[in-house]
Amino acid sequence: MNNIKEIMIIGAGPAGSLTAYLLSQQGFKVSVFEKNSFPVNNKVCGEYLCPAGHNLLEELNLQSLLVGYPQIFGMKLFSPNSQIVNTRFPNNEFGHALKRERFDNEIIKLAESNNVTFHFGIQIQSIKFEQDHISISDGVTHWKGHYLIGADGRQSIVGKWLNIAKKVTEQRVAIHTYLNARSGNKSSQGEMHIFHDGSYCGLNPVSEEVWNFSIVCNGSKMKKYKSTEDLIKETIHGSKRLTELFDTATMSDKQSIKVTGKITNPIKSLGCVEKQVALVGDAAGFVDPLTGEGIYHALLTAKVFSESMAKHTSFSMALEQYQSIIKKSYHKKEIVNYFFQWLIKHPRLCNGVASFLNLSPLIRNTFIGLVGNIYSPLEVFKVIFTSAFKKGAS
Ligand SMILES: Cc1cc2nc3c(=O)[nH]c(=O)nc-3n(C[C@H](O)[C@H](O)[C@H](O)COP(=O)(O)OP(=O)(O)OC[C@H]3O[C@@H](n4cnc5c(N)ncnc54)[C@H](O)[C@@H]3O)c2cc1C
Repeated sequence: MNNIKEIMIIGAGPAGSLTAYLLSQQGFKVSVFEKNSFPVNNKVCGEYLCPAGHNLLEELNLQSLLVGYPQIFGMKLFSPNSQIVNTRFPNNEFGHALKRERFDNEIIKLAESNNVTFHFGIQIQSIKFEQDHISISDGVTHWKGHYLIGADGRQSIVGKWLNIAKKVTEQRVAIHTYLNARSGNKSSQGEMHIFHDGSYCGLNPVSEEVWNFSIVCNGSKMKKYKSTEDLIKETIHGSKRLTELFDTATMSDKQSIKVTGKITNPIKSLGCVEKQVALVGDAAGFVDPLTGEGIYHALLTAKVFSESMAKHTSFSMALEQYQSIIKKSYHKKEIVNYFFQWLIKHPRLCNGVASFLNLSPLIRNTFIGLVGNIYSPLEVFKVIFTSAFKKGAS
């Protein structure tokens, strides 16, 4: 298959660039089309790579991509009534606090060094399926290839073209910035603060002083504030822990704050097996950044897709295998993710769950093992319920 086939990939995020790199290693001729110029640097992201993402890069022998990033050993969860659930990832596993700008561009450079052609500053606007090839265009130039991979993120044009993108009804938005912590707040744990109104705030210590700070809330909440800066300040002032951590007086007038909407991507057909097209990363389905596993999912889909391509002599068989594996892994976690989404909108239940997790370190660390993709949902339920049962019995 690889001797004659040309593969076009739309999007040079981690999903697109890693897929390009892995396919080029198999001898495919790969071109990537990215609407931003190089270096790509405009991602709104908590920049937390979960332990499973670390393990996956090790499996691919790409652990050098993680050199220099702080290790994250667990999470502190803050319930709406300010209970603290202090967790560590099981089995001494750890994730990382990345710098997306560096991480994404290093995968691009890796793929480029393996003969992948990148076209930066090209926004693909139309896709045409012709007899034995696919044609894509930015409105000016047309490119042809045998197969197309949509790695173009949550608002995937490829997903829309295939008519598998569901309408996003959820009106959540994300507000993102970097904040300097008061001195003495060095940490190797991420934090998740859940508030009474169903909004939440994710924190990730990307260096000794600087924390990646994002708030996810309903668009209507944002409208209540004069500015996004005011919303950030009020959020900090409303929480004892956040006030301990950050001094809003140090926020500069020129504080760079990014806002992004449509933070979900529900799609009808995961991974997509249609015509000669596959979807990877967020384009293949994304629930919400709550559990911070989007980068892992991007890398996982790239790995599974390229492994399926290596195994099969026909593209359709490779797609079939890819879709079946991704569906299984996604569906298991999707139910849990939707449950978390539902939970954070019910503050009293959240408080109850926090009390339950605080029953023992085993329960809370197992729970965070689920969030970090170390355990499957089934494994977690087994550990938690066995332990709860034993506790009840004693
Ligand atoms: C607020 C927030 C916080 C998050 N925090 C975390 C976190 O802490 N940890 C985590 O793992 N994940 C997090 N995520 C999710 C994570 O950012 C994504 O899952 C990850 O970036 C997906 O990678 P990707 O390669 O699939 O897509 P992307 O990184 O979005 O890359 C898609 C690329 O396609 C390009 N593109 C799009 N359309 C076109 C087009 N028509 N033509 C050409 N190019 C195009 C874009 O410019 C982009 O570079 C967060 C997301 C949000 C919104």
